[in-house]
Amino acid sequence: MIAPATYRLGELHPFEGGGRKFLYLVPAGAIFEMDSGVAAVIGELSERPATREELVTSLIQRDFAYNDAWEVVEEMAQARAIVPAGAPPERLDSPPADFPLQSLVMNLTNQCNLSCQYCYEFGADKVATPEGKPKFMDIETARKSVDFLFDQSSGRRAVHITFFGGETLMNFPLLKQVVDYANRRAAELGRSIDFSLTTNATLLTPAIIEFLSENRIGVTVSMDGPPDLHDKLRVFSNGRGSYDVMEPRVRALIQGHRTRPIVARVTLTNGVTDVVRIYRHLKDDLGFHEVGFAPVTTLPDRLYAINEPGMDGVLRQFHTLAEEYLEYALRGELHGFTNVSDTLAELYQGVNKSHPCGAGLGLLGVGPSGDIAPCHRFVDSDAHALGNIATGVDRQKQSDFLARGHINSKYDCRSCWARPLCAGGCHHEAFVRYGDTGHPNLHYCDWIRDWTDTCLRIFGTISAKNPEFLEKFAERKAL
Ligand code: SF4
Ligand code: SF4
Repeated sequence: MIAPATYRLGELHPFEGGGRKFLYLVPAGAIFEMDSGVAAVIGELSERPATREELVTSLIQRDFAYNDAWEVVEEMAQARAIVPAGAPPERLDSPPADFPLQSLVMNLTNQCNLSCQYCYEFGADKVATPEGKPKFMDIETARKSVDFLFDQSSGRRAVHITFFGGETLMNFPLLKQVVDYANRRAAELGRSIDFSLTTNATLLTPAIIEFLSENRIGVTVSMDGPPDLHDKLRVFSNGRGSYDVMEPRVRALIQGHRTRPIVARVTLTNGVTDVVRIYRHLKDDLGFHEVGFAPVTTLPDRLYAINEPGMDGVLRQFHTLAEEYLEYALRGELHGFTNVSDTLAELYQGVNKSHPCGAGLGLLGVGPSGDIAPCHRFVDSDAHALGNIATGVDRQKQSDFLARGHINSKYDCRSCWARPLCAGGCHHEAFVRYGDTGHPNLHYCDWIRDWTDTCLRIFGTISAKNPEFLEKFAERKAL
């Protein structure tokens, strides 16, 4: 006679929100509400493995009807909250080799009119090797890039171009031509295309703002806060801070660009960690619609690197803004702290990443020379080039890059409950820190797990008290 299968707990991360208990089902990246039946099964299996029959019997002893008890156990098995005791750890499949492109980041120039000291393109940690390459992209390379995007994205109706630099607006004439050409090609092909750009805002003019607004081009401005913080590192080559030049232009942008929200992107560095004050200035004083923060990517011994106590302080301030975000969400109002909204969107969509981001997969970068890179941060780096726009993607190099960055090849991440969202973290940061794009970013694991847990709790509270609010994240997926 064959012994009935015994079950053990799947890989779970329990959390609470809004007075309710939830489980984050790690191999599926899904969230499951824990009612009394689920809690009883978890309690039972925390002690020892048990058969389905034993689990059902235990529920019946807690006054569950026979059918309801079976249903609880069956649902948990289907959701993989409980798994056969001998089941091997689940591994994520690789995306198909012909995964279609969705976004192309076009670095229109590798030149910049600022000399921000932490810049990953020009600073001490740069990976780019631009020597001997064109400084500005030309129209022929740009057109080929647009054609490449449409060719490589078959099956997708909507595609996206992000313009990047250097300072993107130093090649604004080309940007205009690309928008015109890409719109025409999209119309001919019956496809749709959407644009965004990142800029330091110092070169914005009323005519540029009007063009961006008329063409619904999303704008992200790199800005680090009020003048005393922003001007520490975001300087012109003579050392003068850039705040005074950009501030009136940012105000004009926010007032004049009426078709898309304007986003500020803050790089946190040693001494520029006052997250709440920076947020208040950018959101309330200047009027940005959304503000997102990221610690600088660098080696730990650089002067502008944030040390551990500094990162703890950042986390505390993230918590403060996250609580504020929650209060807004429970009133049905939008809050502009994108570090929460981006994570909530991923949780809502059940994201379960094989790779930390789309780099090399649904997203590629292309530099002024036409070299193709995994993303904008690797543009102009010979060591990381994945081909050229004239000759196409080098599939072998692309597949090596993706194999190294796959979650299954990151040993330390295999038992981490935060891996569905983190997947080891940014390839570029991994290269700067560890010399390998596929190395997990182990220097921030505790930080990431704390922050992910915070966002789970917020997600749980909103889903318990104002679930309609979460529906807006379905739209983000549609984008
Ligand atoms: S890098 Fe750290 S936090 Fe991220 S998945 Fe790996 S072990 Fe987890
Ligand atoms: S590798 Fe890093 S910088 Fe590049 S797209 Fe991914 S997360 Fe962003």
